Amino acid sequence: MTTSIPATGRTLNETDRTRHRRLREQGSLDRAELDAILAAGFVCHLGVTVDGTVRVIPTVYGTDGTTLYFHGSVASRSLVSSPGADVCVTVTHVDGLVLARSVFEHGVNYRSAMVYGAPRPVTDDEEKLAGLRCLTEQSAPGQWEYARRPNRKELAATALLALSLDEASVKIRTGAPEDGDGPDAELGLWAGVLPLRTAWGTPEPDPALGTETPLPPHIAARAGTPAS
Ligand SMILES: Cc1cc2nc3c(=O)[nH]c(=O)nc-3n(C[C@H](O)[C@H](O)[C@H](O)COP(=O)(O)OP(=O)(O)OC[C@H]3O[C@@H](n4cnc5c(N)ncnc54)[C@H](O)[C@@H]3O)c2cc1C
Repeated sequence: MTTSIPATGRTLNETDRTRHRRLREQGSLDRAELDAILAAGFVCHLGVTVDGTVRVIPTVYGTDGTTLYFHGSVASRSLVSSPGADVCVTVTHVDGLVLARSVFEHGVNYRSAMVYGAPRPVTDDEEKLAGLRCLTEQSAPGQWEYARRPNRKELAATALLALSLDEASVKIRTGAPEDGDGPDAELGLWAGVLPLRTAWGTPEPDPALGTETPLPPHIAARAGTPAS
């Protein structure tokens, strides 16, 4: 993938932080690529500094196309102890292992995004519910309508942060190993890509469920299994 600015459509603003320096050909400025990477996942890694130490926390996220939301307990130091401080969030999808003739040329096919900025604590209840809806729907579309929504007490116990998508970078690698036309091609070794796929499994009902509670259609659809 080459760094490209689409003829039409939105582009990512390059900043000093997001400008690709190494492996620039894997970088993309296409905003649609960012949206697609974020839409394809629901787990991110949130990099924060707490008490002078860098932490990278895996956590779920949701996005409405302009903002990334992540949440946790109001007691979570990763979320609440550094108000106004910059964070870096990454989302990564691994698509395959690139097996070259030489170990040096081994790599990974992937799609990844990094988002920088100072997240804003969401305090307004209505906006908080909208952000939590976004988070819930990101992983299980239809679940916000189906499940019981947070009550006042649960809402108060939840910290929700909103991070603008204004400063973000994207990198994508696709394709074969890069030593197919070099001297190592003469070694006669197998080389290629071992694709990696992530798939939903068959839903496993909670043993506490009675037989009268059917699998809801939106979960069946997500899992790709027939609704009961
Ligand atoms: C699953 C996976 C495995 C990887 N394994 C390796 C590895 O073993 N060795 C290795 O050298 N590289 C690896 N990479 C690529 C790595 O993420 C970096 O892109 C690369 O190492 C260049 O880093 P840098 O700090 O020198 O980049 P620079 O070009 O200095 O980075 C400048 C800016 O570009 C952006 N950027 C850089 N990398 C990414 C990215 N991956 N996604 C989105 N934005 C990005 C950031 O905003 C960053 O601040 C891997 C990537 C993925 C997704």
